[in-house]
Amino acid sequence: MSAAEFDYVVVGGGTSGAALAARLGEKADRTTCLLEAGGRDSHPFIHVPSFVAAAIHTKHLNWNFATVPQPGMAGRPIPVPRGKVLGGSGSINGMVYFRGHPTDYDDWSDAGAKGWSYAEVLPYFTRTENNENYPESVFHGKGGPINVKHVEGPNALNYSFMDGLASLQFPHCPDFNGPDPEGYGRRQGLMRDGRRESTSVNMLRPALKRGNVHVQTDAPVRRVLVENGRATGVELLDGRIVRARHEVILCAGTVQTPQLLMLSGIGPATHLQEHGIDVVMDAPGVGENYHDHVASPLHMETNNSTSYGLSLKALPRDIAHLFQYLLTRKGPLAGNVFESVAFLRTDPSLSRPDVQFVFQPARRLTTKIPFPIGHGYAISPVSLYPKARGTLRLASPDPAAAPLIDPRLLAEEGEVDCLVRALKISRAVFASEAFAKYGGIEIAPGPDVRSDADLADYIRRTGYTVHHPVGTCRMGSDRQAVVDPELRLNGVAGLRIADASVMPSIIGGNTNAPCVMIAERAADFILGKPALPAADLPPESVARYKSKPAAKSRARKKAA
Ligand SMILES: Cc1cc2nc3c(=O)[nH]c(=O)nc-3n(C[C@H](O)[C@H](O)[C@H](O)COP(=O)(O)OP(=O)(O)OC[C@H]3O[C@@H](n4cnc5c(N)ncnc54)[C@H](O)[C@@H]3O)c2cc1C
Repeated sequence: MSAAEFDYVVVGGGTSGAALAARLGEKADRTTCLLEAGGRDSHPFIHVPSFVAAAIHTKHLNWNFATVPQPGMAGRPIPVPRGKVLGGSGSINGMVYFRGHPTDYDDWSDAGAKGWSYAEVLPYFTRTENNENYPESVFHGKGGPINVKHVEGPNALNYSFMDGLASLQFPHCPDFNGPDPEGYGRRQGLMRDGRRESTSVNMLRPALKRGNVHVQTDAPVRRVLVENGRATGVELLDGRIVRARHEVILCAGTVQTPQLLMLSGIGPATHLQEHGIDVVMDAPGVGENYHDHVASPLHMETNNSTSYGLSLKALPRDIAHLFQYLLTRKGPLAGNVFESVAFLRTDPSLSRPDVQFVFQPARRLTTKIPFPIGHGYAISPVSLYPKARGTLRLASPDPAAAPLIDPRLLAEEGEVDCLVRALKISRAVFASEAFAKYGGIEIAPGPDVRSDADLADYIRRTGYTVHHPVGTCRMGSDRQAVVDPELRLNGVAGLRIADASVMPSIIGGNTNAPCVMIAERAADFILGKPALPAADLPPESVARYKSKPAAKSRARKKAA
């Protein structure tokens, strides 16, 4: 394939890249080459939803990055798993489907991402969706390529979690992707017929049948080739060149898209010079604005065998579940363990939920076996709106070297407070009548950890991130922005970015669905399609920008 030429070259076949290549392939007279550093997504752990922890721990499917030691996390380096396989992080992730809070996108628009308010992006979410549980509406799609559903037959502990929150007067949320995602309820996942639903499986594979999308796996890209201010193709690690007649689109993710740009001479000039890299363009914003969600769990153990888990007591049930899955692709093995959740304000004076309470009807993993041994349950509160912003920098000009990831986790004053409040709420849930029958014992933080200072210390010593890094190639309209609102790299023609790195700020939820939405929009920009009409949001939507100005003023003019 040396000096092969395509209309479009997409770098990175992850959540965004696989979706983008599939959409570009819909234009029959254009060719697309998708280059993925990892291998094919054939490993069985990827596809059985309940094997999610096993997929993450399969070494060759994961880049296994880590942050530099984090002072805000008691000096520890924190793992940063990223998918290294077709489907990317979407092939090893938790399969949770949640788009975030509507005002997150209104914030993007306010920050200069014109055209990305919630009403404007919602039609791109629903275009990809095939929702098994909710009827077609402004909030949900039917017939799209991505199957979304509730986990069937949730474990009974989920109802105790929800009852516990109800007893504390928190509201129920009937649809987290509906008008107001606040409260507790059942959560939706990316699954179909007991199998993981990734953009590789449900978008790319069908697109390959058309013959104009070419996928190269085990094809790590070394750098983008820029000639006379225009991206003309890429060079692979093995020296092969792939040329792009129209555009190169980077979809290597929040960690590797900025790394690739810097290795191509596009980034903060002094940093590039320190590493002896010729500066193609001084772009100080590249690698800035790294941020992620921090979580800290409350773990309970019990002799009661209601939870998922391997034990002598539960053996007959576990064997039955295995056969149920093998014969019907149903039952607990067909689910991702994350069956209910709550998005709550830990301080009533806030304008939107600040913490996601992830409920897990299973004991924490205590051995190298990626399945719970014994029984228990947990709530992992996730802080949704980190204040600190960090950086991604090169450790070396060697493209095979991992970059330096410094998210500055919990570095800002008061950032830990919402997690302290959330651990107290979690304790109140487990102390409620709804959990009395399980006789659970708190294992972590442990009954002796009571004061706010001790809880904060526990969070810093044991917290982790939930693998939603964003922002290192921020989209915006200002001069520091790396890409403009049509995802074009400022200063280099023929080069776009379409992945989690363009998010101006993290959404208050899980980042996979937004990455698909970004790819959907990128495909339309690249193919020159007009924007989909903004969604006509009902009054009960908590989005700030509800009106469709153009349509409404046209209607007003007509009426006059
Ligand atoms: C363990 C884990 C659990 C998660 N759980 C959830 C969840 O339950 N729900 C949710 O919504 N989100 C979840 N996320 C986050 C979500 O999966 C990511 O935000 C999303 O997949 C990011 O998509 P992306 O396209 O930006 O990057 P990725 O999907 O990571 O894709 C980047 C791709 O680029 C490839 N690549 C990198 N460098 C090069 C190169 N030089 N040349 C060629 N290819 C390259 C990589 O191998 C990878 O395939 C989770 C993530 C992880 C890792």
